[in-house]
Amino acid sequence: MASQVHISTHPLVQHKLALLRDQRTDPKKFRELLEEIAILIAYEATADLATEEVTVMTPLGQASGYRLRERIGLVPILRAGLGVMEGIWSMMPSAEVWHIGLLRDERTLEPVEYYSRLPVSPTVDVCLILDPMLATGGSAVAAVDILKRWGARRIKFVGVIAAPEGVHRLTTAHPDVPLYLAAVDERLNEVGYIVPGLGDAGDRLFGTG
Ligand code: URA
Repeated sequence: MASQVHISTHPLVQHKLALLRDQRTDPKKFRELLEEIAILIAYEATADLATEEVTVMTPLGQASGYRLRERIGLVPILRAGLGVMEGIWSMMPSAEVWHIGLLRDERTLEPVEYYSRLPVSPTVDVCLILDPMLATGGSAVAAVDILKRWGARRIKFVGVIAAPEGVHRLTTAHPDVPLYLAAVDERLNEVGYIVPGLGDAGDRLFGTG
């Protein structure tokens, strides 16, 4: 596994991941679990964010502390990325959210961009691309391409389950982008689903399966 691939071994992540995969988990529980796992993985993905010292007054006196120095951009890939975004956003409410819409062409399995409204130049220092499933890697590579063309300098990928094929494609195309995940599964099937994975994350999130 390439050195920029970080797979969480945290017991809470692994416990919640098994529940998330379980086909008996209903959409409400699925959404809650995905949010919780996303927060835990984002905690690991943001461990190196720059801070600066601040001084605040408590009721009893002066205390020194830190605040984040970098502006964070959350970039959910529509639509399953929305399920990863909410929980992370609640942890960093001043983050900007820039949606990217990428459809998978069911014939070629390649991504087709249908939505991105980024301003002319970057407004954030660190971008977290959010997509629970890193399958073929096509969408993730396309999202990084879009953000790099925009001028983003630091980009990280935050997902939950990956296929080895997706990890290989993303790390080969963009070796400077670290990946934060809960698991790398066995393989992709012939229609681009991760096995064993969890099925269609968007359908399970939105109850459309
Ligand atoms: N997207 C999903 O939601 N599931 C997969 O297994 C692959 C892509």
